[in-house]
Amino acid sequence: MAKVEDTPENFKICMQKNCNTCPSFPRGKGEGLYCARGASQQPVEKKGCNCPECPLWIDAGLSRMYYCVPS
Ligand code: SF4
Ligand code: SF4
Repeated sequence: MAKVEDTPENFKICMQKNCNTCPSFPRGKGEGLYCARGASQQPVEKKGCNCPECPLWIDAGLSRMYYCVPS
C-alpha cells in the first residue's frame, strides 16, 4: 500500500474539497492531511468522512477513514 506524503501539494488537495468540506472536519488551526500527519488536536464528532472520495486516498489505495479522530 502506498503512503500519502506530507507535502504542500497534498495539503492543498486535502483542503480543496476533501477534509475541508467534510461534516466532521474539526477545524484545528493549520490542520489537515490527517492521513499523512496524524490525528487532530481537537475532539472530533463523527458525522461522515470524505476520505473515500479523495484522490489521494484512492491513489494510495488507503482503506481507513476518520484519520482526524484521535485514538
Ligand atoms: S479525515 Fe475523514 S472525517 Fe476527518 S476531516 Fe478528513 S474527511 Fe473528514
Ligand atoms: S485521505 Fe482524507 S485525510 Fe487524507 S488527504 Fe484525503 S481527505 Fe484528507
